[in-house]
Amino acid sequence: MELRSNVPDGPIDTKWTRHRFEMKLVNPANKRKYTVIVVGTGLAGGAAAASMAELGYNVKAFCYQDSPRRAHSIAAQGGINAAKNYQNDGDSVWRLFYDTIKGGDFRAREANVYRLAELSVNIIDQCVAQGVPFAREYGGVLANRSFGGAQVSRTFYARGQTGQQLLLGAYQAMERQIGLGKITMHARHEMQDLIVVDGRARGIVVRDMVTGEIESHLGDAVVLATGGYGNVFYLSTNATGCNATAIWRAYKRGAAFGNPCYTQIHPTCIPVSGDHQAKLTLMSESLRNDGRIWVPKQKGDTRTASEIPEHQRDYYLERKYPSFGNLSPRDISSRAAKEVCDEGRGVGPGGLGVYLDFADAIKRLGEAAIRERYGNLFDMYERITDENPYRVPMRIFPAVHYTMGGLWVDYNLMATLPGLHVIGEANFSDHGANRLGASALMQGLADGYFVIPYTIGAYLAGAKLEKIGADHAEVKRTEIEVSGRIGRLLAIGGKRTTSSFHRELGKLMWEHCGMARNERGLTVALAEIPRLREEFWTNARVVGDGAELNPSLEHAGRVADFLELAELMCRDALERRESCGGHFREEYQTEDGEALRDDRDFCHVAAWEHRGPNNDPLRHVEPLAFENVHLAMRSYK
Ligand SMILES: Cc1cc2nc3c(=O)[nH]c(=O)nc-3n(C[C@H](O)[C@H](O)[C@H](O)COP(=O)(O)OP(=O)(O)OC[C@H]3O[C@@H](n4cnc5c(N)ncnc54)[C@H](O)[C@@H]3O)c2cc1C
Repeated sequence: MELRSNVPDGPIDTKWTRHRFEMKLVNPANKRKYTVIVVGTGLAGGAAAASMAELGYNVKAFCYQDSPRRAHSIAAQGGINAAKNYQNDGDSVWRLFYDTIKGGDFRAREANVYRLAELSVNIIDQCVAQGVPFAREYGGVLANRSFGGAQVSRTFYARGQTGQQLLLGAYQAMERQIGLGKITMHARHEMQDLIVVDGRARGIVVRDMVTGEIESHLGDAVVLATGGYGNVFYLSTNATGCNATAIWRAYKRGAAFGNPCYTQIHPTCIPVSGDHQAKLTLMSESLRNDGRIWVPKQKGDTRTASEIPEHQRDYYLERKYPSFGNLSPRDISSRAAKEVCDEGRGVGPGGLGVYLDFADAIKRLGEAAIRERYGNLFDMYERITDENPYRVPMRIFPAVHYTMGGLWVDYNLMATLPGLHVIGEANFSDHGANRLGASALMQGLADGYFVIPYTIGAYLAGAKLEKIGADHAEVKRTEIEVSGRIGRLLAIGGKRTTSSFHRELGKLMWEHCGMARNERGLTVALAEIPRLREEFWTNARVVGDGAELNPSLEHAGRVADFLELAELMCRDALERRESCGGHFREEYQTEDGEALRDDRDFCHVAAWEHRGPNNDPLRHVEPLAFENVHLAMRSYK
């Protein structure tokens, strides 16, 4: 396997423009001869499907929900970054590029990140044209707020529902093409496998989740936009349906998996309240614009927040990182919260919480202004905790939120398997070892609206693709393998629920491959996961049968994949003997407890190659060069 990044030559700020000119085009009359399969219709996939159909390609789109409108993207609250510099506060494409490279702790590819910053401005124009109701200033100009890791205000938002509003924009663009017959939408269809013919991705095998029928769909290229895999930890802020199945099966068919261990732990989530929980709730990072984070100075202080006087409070982010304060990046803020809780200064049940306090902001701006900015988030918090955050500080704690790892892609967003393209959270690109807030929506939409419509054309124009039919031997073989796997799951006949396996796996991962990792813990996890997997395949209880709507079977398939992916994550975390961004190896830290990178040995992407069930996966590296933002110790002080 070779990792060719295919980054164009030349100065960073002209690469994409030149590349767009140099890429081969498909003429308009020929576009309608091609079929592109898009799996996933969240922000990335929805944008891609609509844009490619608008160009004239035939698109077959798939999602497992009953409507594209229910994709997990809908949950995004806080906003989307763009270097518009509407605030005149010093922003620029270059600054967004710089912040993203630094935020990712120098573990992302420069050329991709520059392109992302460059395209950010187009996204806002596109979405405004679609009618996305971004917040506006009194005079009509689009409003901005700040997010972590930046000292400028560049985050566009629609109250606390930015993802929902952006998704409605992409969905409407898709619907237009569905109406015109250019997109065929297959909701409630779950991709089970990738069809590879002559070394190229040519289709997918799906299960109709309502009838249980196994179907093959063929095309000239496949785009995966299937989101992140944070639910490997069981408890996360992701929707409970989010899973790794599509990318994991593609990995097993030959697509390299990039940086699987890079996981983002978000600092502001509602703390876990008990074993009954199946998911966690995010309190958007936007709240850190006005909320101040603190814990008592004294260990074991059980007084209520209002009883603790100002001089006995430790606003630890403001103290440790005065330049960025409460808007320090997520990895740093999460670790700082863990540190104060480990010291015994955490608040709330079990001491696993810190305060996010709006008292000062309410005093300064008035309750109405805070309600206007964050009303829906405050309501959500109150509904879940039964505490009124206008009166008492919120209690928050870090939780798994996003996966920077994903299928490895080149500059054209193509995986190591020709014809397979991967966009949005499903790929590994752009965020390095830590994603900055409000940058996931930006990346998903840049990939979908502005990158893939060009690069897919270049692939199709340059590839010689034979027509293949449903009776092709590879198609039949893949279908048989899918049916065989489903049959095996249904035949386990064990006693333990698949949820209990998932929960146990999540605990193992949180403990050993979570916010802090070390060699001993990772070695334990690497021994425990295969044991758990073996037990799953002998003792899981999967009820019902395959020829019907069967949530038990769906869940079993996803958990089985998590049980394999988790092992790769731990392996990757063990091999990366440094700390960077969200990957904090306890053995590698500075005297102040900050992440200590090893640029000499680890300034690279690790991409893993599957080599069959009986062989260990092989680790490949793509070296990273920093020619524009020079490698430096990250500091937010
Ligand atoms: C609570 C929360 C708040 C967030 N807030 C922000 C924010 O304010 N700003 C920001 O930039 N980012 C935010 N993020 C991150 C951001 O929302 C996600 O990274 C982004 O929406 C992912 O988009 P996507 O299109 O890649 O995937 P998704 O929206 O997850 O879509 C995945 C699609 O793939 C389909 N799919 C998956 N597997 C299969 C399969 N096997 N077969 C068929 N279909 C499949 C699904 O049906 C779905 O259509 C937030 C994340 C969370 C959890």
